Amino acid sequence: MNLIRPVLLPDEHALGFEGRLNRLNGIINPRRTWGIMQAWAAIVGLEKASQSRAELLANVAGMELGEFLCSHTTFTYRCAFVSERDQLAQADGARPTPRILRLNALATLRNELYLCPECVAADSAGHGMSYWRRTHQLPGVFWCAQHGCALHFVDMTRAMTDSPEALLDQSTPVDGDWVDHLRGSASVSRFRDLGNYLSQRKAPLDERDVSLLVSRLARSRGIDTRKRACPTPRIAGLLAGAFDAGWLATTIPAVVAQRRKAISADRALLGKRAHVSTQVYVAALAAMVDSAEGAIALLDEAREESARVPECSRNQRSPRYEDVRDAYVAARGNVVVAGESIGLSKKQALNHFRVIGLPGLACYSRAGAKVALRLFLLEGRSLEESARSAGITLSDLEAILRTSAAPIREALAKAGGSSPRRREVRKPRVCADTDLSYAQGLR
Ligand SMILES: [Zn+2]
Repeated sequence: MNLIRPVLLPDEHALGFEGRLNRLNGIINPRRTWGIMQAWAAIVGLEKASQSRAELLANVAGMELGEFLCSHTTFTYRCAFVSERDQLAQADGARPTPRILRLNALATLRNELYLCPECVAADSAGHGMSYWRRTHQLPGVFWCAQHGCALHFVDMTRAMTDSPEALLDQSTPVDGDWVDHLRGSASVSRFRDLGNYLSQRKAPLDERDVSLLVSRLARSRGIDTRKRACPTPRIAGLLAGAFDAGWLATTIPAVVAQRRKAISADRALLGKRAHVSTQVYVAALAAMVDSAEGAIALLDEAREESARVPECSRNQRSPRYEDVRDAYVAARGNVVVAGESIGLSKKQALNHFRVIGLPGLACYSRAGAKVALRLFLLEGRSLEESARSAGITLSDLEAILRTSAAPIREALAKAGGSSPRRREVRKPRVCADTDLSYAQGLR
């Protein structure tokens, strides 16, 4: 088959290239493009290297995949911070996995397509055609870096099937006064510069290292980065103080408009892999670091820096005892609710509270359990009398106290070499001097 292969232009977006390919070859239905490119790849012997649409386009363009992704898609921006596993799949020139490519390679990052009218005119004069530029599609970009003018935008449904020139009349210009205002914002400039850097960086960074960096910077600004539930989204507060509200609402709408997503974006501050978008990390860095160069240097050092943090501290799986106790008291002995408030899953909470000796009271007659504990621990009554007066069974009170005696149980088990669980079953008596101060806070 005879496929007319257009020459890829500087900074041309892959989807715009595909649109040109379709127009040149008279492909009216874009759904046919995949099959036509596959047939071409089979003829020229490239079918094994053309498993995804991005690979097919790279082959049609005659470009190595890594270079194509870096220069003609927003893939490198979208996947700038990835998990260690995904990173292994992408680093050192290795091909990203087909799944990563399929989900991310040609995905767009904004809800509109952006074009510069002066670029359109210059490209039409210079190249004989206009084309979609990749850098205009990066998040937070509202003016052309080359011409300085406000960009125009069109609805995403056009999907770059037409040329920018064909859509210029239907496009809407971004408000020029607003763009002038944005141009004076140092945070917006840093966000753009950092975004440009990341979009051209081939090797992704480990999201956990970046999250630790953001967490460290936030702590140095007095932001609480512990897992404890926060009544107001912390990231949203940080970004609102650094960026224009309109820019923030169009660039990172999820963080601003939806409270639930805003709180989940706070996970960026927790120093672990958090599945937060690149935009959130970049905005947080642009808000907290004085220059894009400084932020880039910190990103480059992020892996080395996080290697110095002990693993337990990195994962923050051991919240402070005071926080755990306060959460337990606030949840009135319901360990699942208490765990939720300090960022523990149900499974983690059940295990954590048991290990430190704070028994879950939700499964017992809660009021009765608390009364019995007060009678036994604070008023010195006998076990039998405490249980009877509180209206709970003796075995329930014993079970609660056995969990409460976790530290001494553990010490006994270590000293005697037997397992704490076996000891729990066989030994009904407990030592009363275990730390049970939580009981005093229960009402
Ligand atoms: Zn321009």
